Amino acid sequence: MSQSGVGRRILVPIGVAVCLVAAAYAVYLARRSFIRSFFVDGPVAPTRVPRLPIVAAGPALGLGPAARVRVLLIDGLSLSTARALAQLNQHCATGLDLVIDVGFPTVSLPVQGVLWSGLTQQQSGIQYRNALLTPPARATIPARVADSAAVAQWYPYIVHSLGFAQVEPAAIELEPAAGAAWLDSGFISAATAAVRGESRLVFVHVLAVDKAGHKHGRNSAAYREAAAASDELFSRLVAADAARPGGSRSRWFVLSDHGHRDQGGHGGAEPAIRWVRGCVFGDVEPWRADEPPRIHLVDVSRALADALAVGLPAGSAGRPLAVAMAAGTPPRASLPRPSPVRWACAGALLLLGLAAAVWASAGAARRWWSWLVWLPWWWPVAYLTVVAIESRPTLSTPMIYKPLGQTMAAAASPGLALLAVVAALTVSRGPVRLVAAQLALPAALLLASAVLSGAIGLPAEVPPLMPVWTAHTSLFAVLLSAGALTGALVVLASAVRLAFGRGEPEGTSRNRP
Ligand SMILES: [Zn+2]
Repeated sequence: MSQSGVGRRILVPIGVAVCLVAAAYAVYLARRSFIRSFFVDGPVAPTRVPRLPIVAAGPALGLGPAARVRVLLIDGLSLSTARALAQLNQHCATGLDLVIDVGFPTVSLPVQGVLWSGLTQQQSGIQYRNALLTPPARATIPARVADSAAVAQWYPYIVHSLGFAQVEPAAIELEPAAGAAWLDSGFISAATAAVRGESRLVFVHVLAVDKAGHKHGRNSAAYREAAAASDELFSRLVAADAARPGGSRSRWFVLSDHGHRDQGGHGGAEPAIRWVRGCVFGDVEPWRADEPPRIHLVDVSRALADALAVGLPAGSAGRPLAVAMAAGTPPRASLPRPSPVRWACAGALLLLGLAAAVWASAGAARRWWSWLVWLPWWWPVAYLTVVAIESRPTLSTPMIYKPLGQTMAAAASPGLALLAVVAALTVSRGPVRLVAAQLALPAALLLASAVLSGAIGLPAEVPPLMPVWTAHTSLFAVLLSAGALTGALVVLASAVRLAFGRGEPEGTSRNRP
């Protein structure tokens, strides 16, 4: 072969490698902006009112108006841990012991927004907010109770967002010095005083369990100790309320807003995180059942609104509590899901990707079986090692938010190593064919997942939050960009070999796979 022929042979792989690096960078940038878009408020279109089953109401449960309502929310308390709390068990046995679906995503401010408005995360458009809502929500239950009061242990921005007339602490964020005194003793004194006061509605938000969950995980002694301490605090608050001289009993609602993964973290639709324990007692007839009834958080909103004799916002699917308890709640009642059109588009993209991979593989093969070697086996290997070493990706797994996706890329390295080996063995057949065979199907999987999550085809103000697909889109993007970089390295190495006259240019090999 002439010198100029070899030159052209070198230019092609260099061009392909440059394109692969550019594509990897473009996927990286797109993934960054995709993750940022989770945190934008915006309603899902079309707004989906959850369809909760209705049956004829059960026996009257005494859930008419109550003189006073007390609500305790223990942030991040998993159902299994809550069932082991002695004080909670004792009080729940005197009233209604419930299992509550908090909807999706399982993020504190949005879930508490559901509790106080009766509208799901998808209806309100407050799906993944971790900062003060400005202005605060107005169409809420506390905004309709003149003397409603809230006391927050930590992150006061949450209760400041929900429409309460009075909030403690008054600051949106706790300063380090004032915060230490507040956490040490101020919070418990303020919560006790509020609970025994005359406000018709008092809300106490406990956050120590969630803090322990994030730091140590659900399967830790620290988490169980924080839960036990919150159980003690709960018992003190109930005792303080009962000691009020001459007053009638308050109606208590105790619940959580989400559970935690074993390793810590929440946000996704996992049943162990999305279903929490709830109790209603005091001024309520007890309910005897083998299994606690499964209701939805909007049913709790309805029970709160009924107790306080205020209305719920239009569009709330909250059922009378007796109806909700008798009818139950389907496992995925309020979870968003992709439309049939999106499934069809995703299927078409996958078929295109598969066709490109088979075309590139078959075109390069000499024997009937050898095209199978060219298929992108590295991708399922990489996916499975990420699941095995880390976990199945969900909105609860911190790895899907990391800007570089380094945790997932490291766990995918066995698949990437396989890609490097197959690419090195087959690059002599041409870098373009190699790219089509190894990366077309992974690219189609990323696009299909992006369609299913809503990242493609929704207005910019609608966050692409979908169980399963949002988190998988983040992983699929990391796999594609890491695969493209791996391919670029192999193609560049082949160009270097050609430049030094040691590689075999395309079409001259005698040992085809
Ligand atoms: Zn949390």
